[in-house]
Amino acid sequence: MTGTVLRGRVLTFLAEPQGPDDAGSYRYWEDGAVFINEGKIVSVGDYHVHNIAGASVIDHHPHLILPGLIDAHVHYPQMQVIGSYAGALLEWLNRYTFVEEQKFADAAHAKRIASLFLDELVRHGTTTAATYCTVHKASAEAFFEAAEERNMLVLGGKVMMDRNAPEGLRDTPQAGYDDTKALIGEWQDRGRIHYAITPRFAITSSPEQLEMAEALAREYPDLYIQTHLSENLAEIEFAKELYPNLGDYTGIYERYHLLGPKTLLGHSIHLSHREVEVLADTKSVAVFCPTSNLFIGSGLFDYERLTERGVRIGVATDVGGGTSYSMLQTMDEGYKVAQLRGQRLNPLKSFYMMTLGNARALSLEGTIGSIAPGIDADLVVLDSRATPQMMLRMETVDSLVNELFLLQTCGDDRAVVEVYVAGKAVKGAPSETTAEKH
Ligand SMILES: [Zn+2]
Repeated sequence: MTGTVLRGRVLTFLAEPQGPDDAGSYRYWEDGAVFINEGKIVSVGDYHVHNIAGASVIDHHPHLILPGLIDAHVHYPQMQVIGSYAGALLEWLNRYTFVEEQKFADAAHAKRIASLFLDELVRHGTTTAATYCTVHKASAEAFFEAAEERNMLVLGGKVMMDRNAPEGLRDTPQAGYDDTKALIGEWQDRGRIHYAITPRFAITSSPEQLEMAEALAREYPDLYIQTHLSENLAEIEFAKELYPNLGDYTGIYERYHLLGPKTLLGHSIHLSHREVEVLADTKSVAVFCPTSNLFIGSGLFDYERLTERGVRIGVATDVGGGTSYSMLQTMDEGYKVAQLRGQRLNPLKSFYMMTLGNARALSLEGTIGSIAPGIDADLVVLDSRATPQMMLRMETVDSLVNELFLLQTCGDDRAVVEVYVAGKAVKGAPSETTAEKH
C-alpha cells in the first residue's frame, strides 16, 4: 500500500458549532489516523482500527492534526508595510500602502515578495488564502507562479483601480479589463488556482471601471469577486460622494451586479439595516478582519447581528492592515472584538471558522477545510505546549475546548509544528516509520 498515515490527535468539523458543548459539530480521535495518498485524504479514523499495513506512518502525537487554516482576505504586496505607524484607513493607504505597492511594477520584486509571502503563510499554518495583488499584471503572475510551485490552493487577482491613487498605481477601465481577462485565460483552474476579479474598492474605481468589472463577472459567472466594503466612516462618506445617487456603499456594488455567493467583502463593519438585508439576500460573504480593524481603528465587526440575519461570514488577517499572519492570533483578536460588543465567540466556533467555516465562505467545502475522504490533504499540526507559558498552562487545561482556546489565545507560528500542502510536508521534517500489520 502506498501513501502515508499521519497519526495524532485528529480534529475536524462537520457543522457550525452552536456552543462550546456542541459535540455533534466535530469529530475528534484521541489516537487518530489520516491516510493520505496522491495529495488527497483517503480515509480518517481511529489509528488502531484504521492502520494501513505497509503505509509509512508519521507520528505527530501529542499534537493536534487539523485541516489547513484558511485566510479569506490578505494583501501579499503589503508584507513590508505591516506594522506601519499610521492613523485611520485613508492615511494608512496614502502614506504607506500606495507607496509600497508601486514597487510591484518591478516583476523581480513581485516574484521575491510573492515567494516570501507564501512561505510565511505556511509557517503560520495557512494553506489557502484569498489574496490581493497590485494593479500590475506582473504582480498577479508572480503570485500565481509562486503558488503553482508550491501546489497551494489560492484565490487571487490583479487589483483594478483607476482613480484616487498615485499614477503608478492606476490602470484604466479598458486596461484593467484586458489584463484581468488575460490573467483569467492564463491561470483560472490551472492546478489549484482560482481567479478573483478584484476591484480594490469603490473609491479607487470609476463607474466605468465598475462597469468593466461587471462585464467580467457576466462573462465569467463562476469566478470570485473580492473587494472592500464599509471599513471606515470617512471611507464610507467618500464612497457615497463619488456615487451620489446610489444611497449607500453596498448599493454601489449592487448597482454593478457585483454581489453574490462568490463575492468576498472585506470588513463589512458599518452597515445599515438595508445593507445587511442585501448581503444576506445575495449570499455575499462579509469578511471579518479583526487585527486590521483594531490596528487601523476601523470599528467592531458585529458578528451576531450578521449571523442572525443569515449573512455568510469569513475571517481573515488582512495583512498588512492586519498585524499577524496567524489565523490563531486573528481569532484571538476576533474574540476580543466580540467581547467589546458583549458577544461570545466560543473556541469551537473559532476553529470552525479558520477551517470549514472559511472553506464554506469560499464555496470550497468540497475541496478543502475538513478531514474527510476525497478532500485535499492540506493539514496543519498544532502544538498546544509550544512555549514555556503554554506548557505550564496546559497543566491545568482539562478539556479539548479549553486547549483550543489556549492555542488561539497564546499560540502563533511557534505552535505550528508541521504543515501539509496537498499531502506534502512543507514546514518541519518529521521522521517516518513504516506501519506494522495490526
Ligand atoms: Zn484589505
